[in-house]
Amino acid sequence: MPTPVTPPADMIEKARLYVGNAYAPYSNFRVVSIVRSSTGKLYPGVNVENSSYGLTICAERTAIFNMVTNGEKSIREILVYFPDSEKPGVPCGACLQVISEFSPDNTTRIYSCGSHFRSCLMYTLGELLPYRFKLDLEPLGRRSEE
Ligand SMILES: [Zn+2]
Repeated sequence: MPTPVTPPADMIEKARLYVGNAYAPYSNFRVVSIVRSSTGKLYPGVNVENSSYGLTICAERTAIFNMVTNGEKSIREILVYFPDSEKPGVPCGACLQVISEFSPDNTTRIYSCGSHFRSCLMYTLGELLPYRFKLDLEPLGRRSEE
């Protein structure tokens, strides 16, 4: 069950700064995401839509790719802000998988906030993606024969 929370103030402040940078001319549904890496640095991302809809990318992945571009590979917590929605949403399945790629375990905190941060919930990655995909299976034919 999600827990009603007030996310860290520095993440809220940073999210407010980037709302105007979301590029959502087709859906008019802006999203901002702020990742806190394991070193404590904050990395922003916004959704970036495209007239070829399938090329659109979510704010969460933009923020995570920003973190990786800057040389970090571990997420401590992530905030997702939906300024155009009363209710907070949750990251899509694709973003949850990308969050899991850079999360050491299932306890990564995911904050989700609706308009004006009036309503915020907190989930753990494990609550939203209990069985994450991980490429750690041994492919057939590569087992060492004894
Ligand atoms: Zn997404």
